[in-house]
Amino acid sequence: MTARLRNSFPLICLFVFSQLLVLPVSGCEDQQKARVNTVFVPENGYNFEPPAPPQNTVSTATIPTVPMPENRIQTIEVLLNSLDITREFSFLSTLAADSYQGRKTGSAGAEASADFISTEFTRLGLQPWTKIGLSSYTQHFIAGDTESDNVIAVLPGRSPDNAYVILAAHYDHLGLDANGQPFNGADDNAAGVAAILEIANIFQQTGIKPEKDIVFCAFSGEEIGQRGSKALGRTIFENGLGNQVEMINIDGIGATGGGYVGIWDEGFSGAAKLVGALEEAGATLGTPTKREGTDIGSDAQPFDWQYSIPAVTVDWDWGSDPSIWHPYYHTVYDDADQINQTVLEQATRVVLLGLWLRASET
Ligand SMILES: [Zn+2]
Repeated sequence: MTARLRNSFPLICLFVFSQLLVLPVSGCEDQQKARVNTVFVPENGYNFEPPAPPQNTVSTATIPTVPMPENRIQTIEVLLNSLDITREFSFLSTLAADSYQGRKTGSAGAEASADFISTEFTRLGLQPWTKIGLSSYTQHFIAGDTESDNVIAVLPGRSPDNAYVILAAHYDHLGLDANGQPFNGADDNAAGVAAILEIANIFQQTGIKPEKDIVFCAFSGEEIGQRGSKALGRTIFENGLGNQVEMINIDGIGATGGGYVGIWDEGFSGAAKLVGALEEAGATLGTPTKREGTDIGSDAQPFDWQYSIPAVTVDWDWGSDPSIWHPYYHTVYDDADQINQTVLEQATRVVLLGLWLRASET
């Protein structure tokens, strides 16, 4: 995420209006950590050697299958029970490794990250988004003096090419600091990319198809002004698909503090159904959610503001208490070992169910 303002509302009350799947809410781990003062200082044209080829940390040997569900409730149970936090965290750890050198837009580290994501999409047998003119998973974009790639893949629904729900997260981050230390961006936003890869695995593993196509999208260029999401939003708009698309964007769901899933609709009323689905998901799962405002500055913003394509950004919110803020935001200490896997899993489940609710609507 880029810039955020925080309001000061207390943790919301939770209204559990469904007993469909009531799950325990694990306590928010108030892991007090020493505050660090290192902040990101943009480097100027820092060059570095390409990182070592990434190791695919997920076995390609077998993808276990589960029985097809017989009804809606069973479908939801199968989806949620298929979430494998160990697998998800392995995606996160891979992308947040030093070898990716902070995944700065346009860098070799970012290219290696895109290759890792693309390899996983290939393994899952996903399709290019041909309806917007793509013949591969790569959407190359040029913005000013910067070039990079969004990585995009489609899981066809029961009514293919009719409507699309994009599940997105940016994979780029800040690169290296002046001393060559990588900003690994585990929470910002290897966690979000790990969630979309995990959810892609779940749908492929279970064989469950919602009505709409699901488009998995890993954006580049977020940290330099949402360049990748602006490029995709424009392409969707120019292909006349603006009113057939909506997007759930994930940015920062692994921080240690906070206590609820934030849903940022950027003030766009067209995103109300997305907000409603995620709120329903949170209530069903016993995970607090809160509708936020317009200040997260992540990749939903260009969709909502420039192209009127409904979009929300989901985060694990840090709340207003400085003692539980993410202490490593945009520092070189945002590493995988600081990720709270409990909240990562909780937030991913909310996203998974919210996605399914929107994508299964006829
Ligand atoms: Zn950021």
